[in-house]
Parts: sequence; C-alpha cells; structure tokens
Amino acid sequence: MTTVAAYAAPSAKAPLERTTIERRAVREFDVLIDIEFAGICHSDIHQAREGWGEAIFPMVPGHEIAGVVSEVGPGVTRFAVGDRVGVGCLVDSCRECDNCKAGLEQYCTGGSVGTYNAIGKDGEPTYGGYAQKIVVDENYVVRIPDGLALDVAAPLLCAGITTYSPLKHWNAGPGKKVAILGMGGLGHMGVKIANALGAEVTVLSQSLRKKDDGLKLGAAHYYATSDENTFKELAGTFDLILSTVSAPLNLDAYLSLLKTDGAFVNVGAPEEPVALNLFSVIGGRKTLAGSGIGGIQETQEMLDFCAEHGLGAEIELIAAQEINDAYERVLASDVRYRFVIDTSTI
Ligand SMILES: [Zn+2]
Ligand SMILES: [Zn+2]
Repeated sequence: MTTVAAYAAPSAKAPLERTTIERRAVREFDVLIDIEFAGICHSDIHQAREGWGEAIFPMVPGHEIAGVVSEVGPGVTRFAVGDRVGVGCLVDSCRECDNCKAGLEQYCTGGSVGTYNAIGKDGEPTYGGYAQKIVVDENYVVRIPDGLALDVAAPLLCAGITTYSPLKHWNAGPGKKVAILGMGGLGHMGVKIANALGAEVTVLSQSLRKKDDGLKLGAAHYYATSDENTFKELAGTFDLILSTVSAPLNLDAYLSLLKTDGAFVNVGAPEEPVALNLFSVIGGRKTLAGSGIGGIQETQEMLDFCAEHGLGAEIELIAAQEINDAYERVLASDVRYRFVIDTSTI
C-alpha cells in the first residue's frame, strides 16, 4: 500500500479537504500513475453532494485523469515507466459480458467499477483523480499521444469521450447538421469534435454570452434558447441534437427542431425525470436516445483523433485549494470551459 495525498469530501454536505488515502500495492497487471492533472466534471459535484443518490464517503472525485506511468506490474505489456497516460470513468468491468467483449465496457452488465464512488472487485472503495497517484489495471488505461498536452487532455477522458462516442454513433459528419445543446464542459468539446468530424455545427445555448467562443471553437451558427424565435426559425433543421444539459428540459420543443429521422441524444443527466409528449417522436419518426461515456478502445480512438486534429479542452488551471470555489462556479456555469486541478498542489 502507498499513502497518497488527496482531496476528499468527508460527507455529502461538507466541502472537500486535503487528506491522505491508501492506494493498493501494484499487482501483476497494474499500472501506477503519477497524476499530473485532473479535470472537474459536473458529475463530480452531483456525486459528492449525493444528487444522484446515496454515495460512498469519504469521496475522492475525479475521472478525468492525466499523468505519467511510474511503475508497472510484472504482467503489464501495454505500458512502460514514463508513458503519458489517462484514466476516465471506469477502472474495471466484468470483462465477460457481451458488452465488455464488444468494447462497450461502459454498458457492462456484469458490473463495471467506477473510478470513484464505487467498490472494486477487491471489496475496497475506489478513489478518483483528485490525488497524487492512482493504481489501475492496464486494460482500463489509455495512452495520451505526444501531440496533446496533459492538462488539456485530462478533460477528454470524460467530456471528450462522452461527446465523441454519440457523435460517431449517430454519424455526425459531412452533410449533417448537428446541434450541440449547452456550451459548457461537455458542450464545448462537442462543438470541437463535431466540427472536426465535418458536420455543420450549431450551438443552442441559453444566452448569446459565449457566442464568440462558440464560433471560434468551430460552430457555424449560434442561437439563444431563451429566445422563442429560435424554435420557430430552426424547426425541422437538425439531423442530430446532442444535449449536454443537466437541467430540466422542454423535450417537446427540442424534438421539434429535428428533421424526419433525426435523433435527440442526451448525455446530460438531470436529477429529476422530465416530461415528454410522445407525439413529439411519432411525427417525423424521431429518435430520443441517451449515451454514456465510451468504451476503452473508443476512448483511445478519441484521444488519437483529438491529437490528429489538435483538439484539447479549453481549461482554467487551478490549485487544489480552489476546488470548492470551482464547484460553485461550475454550478453557476461560470467556467470556460473546464477546471483542471494541478495535482502537484495537493
Ligand atoms: Zn464526467
Ligand atoms: Zn461486462
């Protein structure tokens, strides 16, 4: 076991504070990673405050992890000391179900293990990336290409793959009109990736406050959803709408913006159920769908794609002491566009 400095929430209502945790000794197929950067995902806040249900405390959040390998177990074949690597939302899965065999570990039916707020197969709680080191089985570690700086790569491990996977699955590309709903941590990556895939990208955001940024990051159009004219003007426009919003939505209004056979795909997760008039999908044979992160192989594919196209996240680098303030700013949508913790400050 190794004692490691970390930032943890001691309970659901308490601020995060500096503490130490134990990382397991490196096993046969494990990689020890010196974490350099960890992104702050909105879901860290949902979980640390039990917005998604009962959680495990103390909690060390963080599933956007970038660092360098500092030790490998004797059975490790894919990584060596000094490799630049990342860890996303999963650190294990059953490896036997149809989804695991198909590279869809994120939909493992035999029990996947979250990077934090979960219990590992060894019965011990998992702790995430707001820490100086982490030990992970090599099958759940990905390589960060040399062309990507580690700080802007960290958010790709959740925000990047969560948008890349559905954009690929629903064929965002040349000739397709894609709307990205929400211009936050996920949304800004959705804009960059959809644009790099060749789609014509529109941002649908509450206001026009971030319009200049949206156009700079690759959107061709930018509309405010607070303006009712937006819904009249864009009726029947999109092949795909990717919703990154975690606040309650008027789904019927958004479904009216799809073309026939268009799809509205949710990657944001509101804490409360939302209402839907099913006629909104019957007329126009529309699809209402969801998508969660991506598999390990697809996460590697996404990192390679981002390196090839020079895509990193837009970040605000912070010290660990600023985590609690950063949480408040995320909740107030006051971040451009992802906070990343410099873990050397822990
Ligand atoms: Zn996340
Ligand atoms: Zn499985």
